Amino acid sequence: MPAPLPYLDPTLTVAERVADLLARMTLPEKVGQMLQLNARDGVRHLVEDMHAGSILHASPERVLEATALVERTRLRIPLLVAEDCIHGHSFWIGATIFPTQLGMAASWDPALVERVARVTAVEVAATGIHWTFSPVLCIARDLRWGRVSETFGEDPFLIGELASAMVRGYQGDGLADPTAILATAKHFAGYSETQGGRDASEADISRRKLRSWFLPPFERVAREGCRTFMLGYQSMDGVPITVNSWLLDEVLRGEWGYTGTLVTDWDNVGRMVWEQRVHVDYASASAAAVKAGNDMVMTTPGFFEGAQDAVAKGMLDESDIDQAVRRILTLKFELGLFEQPRHPDPARQAVVIGAPAHAEVNLEIARRSLVLLRNDGTLPMAGEGRTVAVVGPNADDQHAQLGDWAGASGQTEWLPDGHPRELTETVLDGLRAVVPAGWTVTTARGADILTVGPDPEGEFFPDGQPRPHIVHPSPADPAMIAEAVAAAEAADYVVAVVGDHIELVGEGKSTATLELIGGQVALLDALAATGTPLMVVLISSKPLVLPPSALNAAAIIFAANPGMRGGRAIAELLLGVIEPTGRLPISFAQHSGQQPTYYNQIRGQHGSRYADLTQRPAFAFGQGLSYTTVEYDDLRIEQTEVTAADTLRATVTLHNSGTRPALETVQVYVSDTVTSATWADKELKAYTQVSLSPGERRTVALELPVAACTFVDAAGARVVEPGDFELLVGSSSRDEDLLRAGFNVSRPVHGPA
Ligand code: BGC
Repeated sequence: MPAPLPYLDPTLTVAERVADLLARMTLPEKVGQMLQLNARDGVRHLVEDMHAGSILHASPERVLEATALVERTRLRIPLLVAEDCIHGHSFWIGATIFPTQLGMAASWDPALVERVARVTAVEVAATGIHWTFSPVLCIARDLRWGRVSETFGEDPFLIGELASAMVRGYQGDGLADPTAILATAKHFAGYSETQGGRDASEADISRRKLRSWFLPPFERVAREGCRTFMLGYQSMDGVPITVNSWLLDEVLRGEWGYTGTLVTDWDNVGRMVWEQRVHVDYASASAAAVKAGNDMVMTTPGFFEGAQDAVAKGMLDESDIDQAVRRILTLKFELGLFEQPRHPDPARQAVVIGAPAHAEVNLEIARRSLVLLRNDGTLPMAGEGRTVAVVGPNADDQHAQLGDWAGASGQTEWLPDGHPRELTETVLDGLRAVVPAGWTVTTARGADILTVGPDPEGEFFPDGQPRPHIVHPSPADPAMIAEAVAAAEAADYVVAVVGDHIELVGEGKSTATLELIGGQVALLDALAATGTPLMVVLISSKPLVLPPSALNAAAIIFAANPGMRGGRAIAELLLGVIEPTGRLPISFAQHSGQQPTYYNQIRGQHGSRYADLTQRPAFAFGQGLSYTTVEYDDLRIEQTEVTAADTLRATVTLHNSGTRPALETVQVYVSDTVTSATWADKELKAYTQVSLSPGERRTVALELPVAACTFVDAAGARVVEPGDFELLVGSSSRDEDLLRAGFNVSRPVHGPA
């Protein structure tokens, strides 16, 4: 038998195999290997003519077709199949769909988020997909942005904790693990710093600002081995990220030593020609993108000819292309795809997709994602033979519960109507299942949110992608409201489930306002006027502005697109089957004109209010109630004179002074009292979650390396500046919820050399 070609010989090293294969490839094959193409309109052309290295948005049938086609190509280089499985394998019917990232973030629980990502990887890997474009590490700062639900919220430290956990969950025990999938840290970096909340606008952001808030979570996952990074759409200082050599070469590959693979976002290379207009043609844009170190070029078919032209014209060296191809092939060899291409495995799918154990994890994260924002004591609902009226447009709506990037959200063509209704437990389903025997559940919709219509600017964007439909708020309907009011009047409790809907969420779907739209405010006003205790459940993609009738209701629960089991979790919370434990990963505004409302703003502005409104958010980062009260007392720092080499040790006493158990999130902020350049008044630096039984008093030990008490100086260096600091410990980012204790960081005293 002839010996296998060296690149097919698993006894050789990856580097040897890559070198052998690269030497056999033609220029078109190399350029094709850098392409990640959209499988929507068929795969034959992509594999046979364009030698695509990767495909995305491939329906289950297309994945099978594409992998079979590869077998007939000259070199049989396996495809990397990629998909946005960002809160579960949510374009696969029957898969487990979790709360969106924002919902998961409200758990503040990295271990649980890691389990969610592991479950996702196990389901995804069984379907022939090797790569998920998750997690999102963008900081959500303007609530009008359409992609807030994809983020872990507004705080860089919390984002870093949760993103790191998610990457670990996806990548499992390393790429050789057949259930591991590639994680993607996206969108590198600063994409969320929008102007006016508008998607992909030029980010008005300095390098210092990037280093201060936007880069730290990315740096963390880069150093921890997240295998791929996706480059955002936006430009900074006039330079699209795709060709931003400061960010890509100096910072990512240089300072952080990142050796993973870079993928552009959707048609970033083409956009430099037709949208941002910073390159005259595809040859010039392709040359710039390759030189900047991009490896995989997402959905720019013009790159195929463009890059080859660039080589022919001497604008690009073939060795530059080799570098990128080498990284892509290395990834494929490390995944073991040449030996075991990880094709879809129907037998395994039957066991793992939507497995009962996965549904349990889903219920757990859904429960932990709920944030109780207000409770006048009405919750949990209790008593004998009660009637609950469940009203509102999101009470029985699976699409609102699943949120963006799931079925009906529109990114794929094979699920136009979304997931089958019966796979999601809505609030109505949940209450019917969970209320005690002898209780009655009634329902009325009460209001519509919106209808949609064509965008007057045309059906397609210039690149041929469909424009989202535009939203028309529905008028309040007196008959629907009257029906809901009648249900409320005949009930002991009314649960009003309001919020937004997927047409108001996502790319190109930022919102100018944050109000509850359609007939929802009129519905809430009318329900409040009945006098029946009103519980408002907000199922939405992001914090919305609530009207007084909601803010003064008996209770408010925030459920950020809580996933397939969210309705059940909400019912359990309303009935006190579980305890409320979620804490806000993002602040709520009182008015959209207050944007931005994030807590860690820079000191130095005049006053703290507008002439016509306070700047105080309606609910601040870190807030969230329990069904009990937890008191904080006696914050003590063991040693208040420290150096940057020390660990700060403190204790605080917690007392559960109520009658129900609590899972308290003890938040630790640091305030550097004087800094050589302006800085935030406080920043989250650590937190710990503590279970407390009713009546329990416990002293909690807190530790913080002083080296974490950094800020970014005017030259852009992250340093600990000696001087006075305060440790702030409590239940939320609000000053009134925090105990304070001072400490001083002195310069380290060095002994004689
Ligand atoms: C989004 C990315 C996504 C990609 C592929 C882009 O438009 O910005 O987040 O991963 O499409 O679907």
